[in-house]
Amino acid sequence: MANNTLLRMGIDYIARHGQSIAHNPIARKLIMNQAMKAAENGYRANLQAEEYPIGVCRDRYEMNKAIIYTAERILTGPHPIANTYIRKLSEIMIQNIAMDGGYVSAQKSFFNRHGQRPPGLLVVSPTKSCNLFCTGCYANSGNASEKLTWQVFDELLTQAKEIYGNLFIVISGGEPFTYKDQGKTLLDMVEKHGDMFFMSYTNGTLIDDATARRLALTGNFSPAISVEGWRERTDERRGKGTYDKILVAMDNLRKYGVPFGISLTATKYNCEEIMTDEFIDHFFFQQGAAYGWIFHYMPIGRSFTTELMPTPEQRLKMQQRSWELVREKHIFLPDFWNHGTLVDGCIASGRSNGGGYLYINWDGKVMPCVFVPYAATNINTIFAEGKDLNHVYEEPFFNDIRSWQDAYRKKNGSGKHGNLLAPCFIRDHHDVMREIVARNEPDPENEPAREALLDKEYRDSMIKYGKDYQELSNPFWEEHYLRNYDYKKALAELENK
Ligand code: SF4
Repeated sequence: MANNTLLRMGIDYIARHGQSIAHNPIARKLIMNQAMKAAENGYRANLQAEEYPIGVCRDRYEMNKAIIYTAERILTGPHPIANTYIRKLSEIMIQNIAMDGGYVSAQKSFFNRHGQRPPGLLVVSPTKSCNLFCTGCYANSGNASEKLTWQVFDELLTQAKEIYGNLFIVISGGEPFTYKDQGKTLLDMVEKHGDMFFMSYTNGTLIDDATARRLALTGNFSPAISVEGWRERTDERRGKGTYDKILVAMDNLRKYGVPFGISLTATKYNCEEIMTDEFIDHFFFQQGAAYGWIFHYMPIGRSFTTELMPTPEQRLKMQQRSWELVREKHIFLPDFWNHGTLVDGCIASGRSNGGGYLYINWDGKVMPCVFVPYAATNINTIFAEGKDLNHVYEEPFFNDIRSWQDAYRKKNGSGKHGNLLAPCFIRDHHDVMREIVARNEPDPENEPAREALLDKEYRDSMIKYGKDYQELSNPFWEEHYLRNYDYKKALAELENK
């Protein structure tokens, strides 16, 4: 009891004084020094462990530094985040992690039962409906009745906490802000699960003043707004006037101190534009985005075409450019297909060594990944049969994928890591994906996913893409990540810097 009172007082203090502490130059310097030291210690420990290639340790160190600079920016920049966020994040981190408000013990029970670590998060698309009609998007054939019921959605989040020990949920779409069931919306759900933090991909056009104000009062939700490029390119795909609506949404979010990010879909045609200095500076340093995610166009869904994918050459250039941006601008900008080094490769199927995820869509279908549209089971059936997320995890389709990931990480026991620049089992190892799908016969998410399995031309071009990219990236992986495996030299460089 005494501990809880002290803890509550501590959290109150952080929430009330977090901003002023961060604005005090002496305190700020002290905190930054400590944080940088912690990042450095992590890097040193990784090098000493000699478990990962030096280049992998270095990438993780660079991203950790970018996170620290980002935290400084969103606390002390011209549009600091609202105190509610500082309070909520402190509560979630301190109560759940440091004091084990259920999080640590849930993860331990899971490990005792499965001998593997639980998925680190869920990605949930509670509705297929959307207010826009973007070219090529699966959601534009959706309607408001294609959604998870309030009860199932609620139960899913409760079990994610209690069984997987999840504190972080990603919401995708359709457009999440259009979700409504029994008169209740996504934000009602976010408020109900105030002990979790949510990030949501959104087109941003429904974030008006009142929504931004409500988000700031809630403090546990951050929108990542989709941008295709500058105005012309964004409006071309998402509809005339969308770009301006996005800027209005960002304005509203800044006004109330809601931290937000951007989500960039790279195609063959915009992949250079979205990584220029001007573009990045505009969204990160003028609009105030706290973070960004890069996704490369993935040919699934309606009218899939491999033609839009960034070419293997473009992808490798993006890999280098993305690290340049992280290193030089200190921004948190993970590139979903190019930053396998950060997360140990593919994270689908709630992979066995932790930090993985599962995807649940509006029909309740549970899939290994947003980009692998084949369902092992359905959460509606699971709950109706009185089963739970343990049973979901045990599905043979997911197990099969996890075994492949384990082998890939260790290159089938050779002791050398598989190329973490090309770890994706639908994009870079499409033939493997097809074998696993053929063995397990999961339920295709929709008609295009079913057709894709029968489409020889699609299959051949995906396999070719994967092989071309491996051929191109293998020498780079060898040169920049595996060669000069001299940990002692890397440690000496760290001590002398
Ligand atoms: S299947 Fe591909 S896109 Fe999905 S988590 Fe694995 S690497 Fe990422």
